[in-house]
Amino acid sequence: MKKLVLVILLFFLPFFDHVDAKELSQKEIYEKRMHLYKKTEAATKIPWYYIAAVDQFERSIRYVRKDLPRPGDIVGYYVPSEHWTGPLNPDPNDHNPITLSLFNGIGLDGNGDGKADKQNGEDLLFTLANYLSEYGVNDQAFRIAIWDYYKRDQTVGSIMVNARLYRNFNRVDLDEKAFPIPKGYNYSFKNTWGDRRGWGGRRIHEGTDIFAGYGAPVRAVAYGVVELKGWNKYGGWRVGIRDLNNTYHYYAHLNGFSKGLKIGDIVSPGQVIGSVGSSGYGPPGTSGKFPPHLHFGMYKDNGKNEWSFDPYPHLSQWERQERSKK
Ligand SMILES: [Zn+2]
Repeated sequence: MKKLVLVILLFFLPFFDHVDAKELSQKEIYEKRMHLYKKTEAATKIPWYYIAAVDQFERSIRYVRKDLPRPGDIVGYYVPSEHWTGPLNPDPNDHNPITLSLFNGIGLDGNGDGKADKQNGEDLLFTLANYLSEYGVNDQAFRIAIWDYYKRDQTVGSIMVNARLYRNFNRVDLDEKAFPIPKGYNYSFKNTWGDRRGWGGRRIHEGTDIFAGYGAPVRAVAYGVVELKGWNKYGGWRVGIRDLNNTYHYYAHLNGFSKGLKIGDIVSPGQVIGSVGSSGYGPPGTSGKFPPHLHFGMYKDNGKNEWSFDPYPHLSQWERQERSKK
């Protein structure tokens, strides 16, 4: 029954999207976003990648949070009414900049139409940049600003990842993906999500196992920043990489890491980060307790907590996309 409901949902979802009158291509969406980020930078002197970093974080959590509205095409940054208009403001739809300020609402008028409209992208990003500018214009100041705003370490970390990626690549269209094992290497995988795991107490399998030979290259699947690297008694030698959607990718049982790879490194899809092995299930260096494979896990953070989800459909999709490439 659950499956049937899901199938029906998947079937109808695209039609709901079509209800929005004008449709923009992904390319147009990225262009419009970048344009607005640059415009806000010009008006406030806050570098676009800081604005984009927060905007993208908010967009990513709105897709997985039931208490937040879905984001529109261009701007992801969301401000609850009471924060925008002020906690004691009797009018939750107040958009008069003077009364907002009187009630300690943060909302500002960015596009000069005399209204501070929390539905208007330009007003939203101007308000955000104005908040950031109170702290200064460097990574340290930015970090403190977002800590004061969100008061959560993981959120600060995720937003810093976004800022680093946007600054490094100087663009927002960074959703290219790669399958972790390159073409030309033998591998096999099936859906092993949720299988029982015996070693080290009762656990369920939070990932997909991709079986391949020792030493087969393991590649980053997305643009991201290395958040974790080292040994763990379950995962052996492993790497964790967070992407722009606040998704954490976990690569375990590696034979070794790519030379020079370190925590904080920026990686691109297809970049080799290590090789397939059978490390784990014991003290550092333990290997060979099971056939060599890449354990690949995906974790989603929604700004409150993090959970693992099934990477299998994504792996299949990336594999298909790569096979269709010339
Ligand atoms: Zn596994």
